[in-house]
Amino acid sequence: MADDNQPNGQLRGLISATQRFSVHDGPGIRTLVFMKGCPLRCLWCGNPETQHPKPQLLHNSGRCIGCGACLGECPHGAISPGRSGRPGTDRKLCDNCGMCTEVCPSGARTMVGKYVSVEEALEEVKRDMAFYRRSGGGLTVGGGEPAVQPRFVAELLRRSKLELGLDTAVETCGFADYSALEMTLHYADLVFYDIKHLDSSVHKALTGVANELVMENLRRIAYDAGRKVVMRVPVLPGHNDSVENIRGIGALAAGLGAAITHIELLPYHNYGASKYARLGRRYRLGRVQPSSPEHLRRLQHTMMDAGVNAQIGESA
Ligand code: SF4
Ligand code: SF4
Repeated sequence: MADDNQPNGQLRGLISATQRFSVHDGPGIRTLVFMKGCPLRCLWCGNPETQHPKPQLLHNSGRCIGCGACLGECPHGAISPGRSGRPGTDRKLCDNCGMCTEVCPSGARTMVGKYVSVEEALEEVKRDMAFYRRSGGGLTVGGGEPAVQPRFVAELLRRSKLELGLDTAVETCGFADYSALEMTLHYADLVFYDIKHLDSSVHKALTGVANELVMENLRRIAYDAGRKVVMRVPVLPGHNDSVENIRGIGALAAGLGAAITHIELLPYHNYGASKYARLGRRYRLGRVQPSSPEHLRRLQHTMMDAGVNAQIGESA
């Protein structure tokens, strides 16, 4: 099982961000906690900064004012004068130590990923108690993959649910040891479970991993454990949006019975594309265009014909 970071015996989680006032990831008004670390490398990932399981340098050269303060600061020689007057970063040499971020006055160099205790994460969640109460909302933990840090997430959800009385939800890709997943979901009222493709070899080409474990875990969570599950299908035009694949996913959901509340078809977007450059990576789907509304409706009806409730987009 994955282990959480526990210096001096204190349970800590590595989070990339916290987002308040979300209305798309469970009932009511919610706070989203994004865990850092994911075993998948989905081509379309809109939060690539959550994939690596350690803090990382984000270099946004568009914010650089060319002051040169970072030059000479890097112990690994990863920073060099750029031709445009803006120093560049050699990612092969950078070890994400963060020293350059401490001298950068413009926010061009920042770190993503912060270790926090459960208490610290809860303090942030507690800021919106009045809104949760009025709306029936609460906390959703996503990422990244929450099951990479199962003890931290379980404790955060346990205290949110039992001490604060919040509604709790987890977003998962399902690729984890079942024991870690079970621990992660133990105090979740609702599970958002991603299904990308039924063909394992295509799944591997799209995400970096085969899908057998994802499928097996879905059955165990929904069928054996009887958890309330919303299946989410990120629709990637030309890659997983054939009627055959969508019909098959619909049939899979219908076969799992009442545990699957509905399916959400998530239209492709490239909002996260600029983050890849900040991480020194290339966004590989530059030519993919979003699906037309007509095509999304066709896919929705294909799902419904398979016997499962389906909607376009996330729950509001
Ligand atoms: S974060 Fe990377 S570029 Fe910045 S000082 Fe550390 S090693 Fe050098
Ligand atoms: S310290 Fe920041 S603003 Fe100054 S040159 Fe380096 S990246 Fe640009």
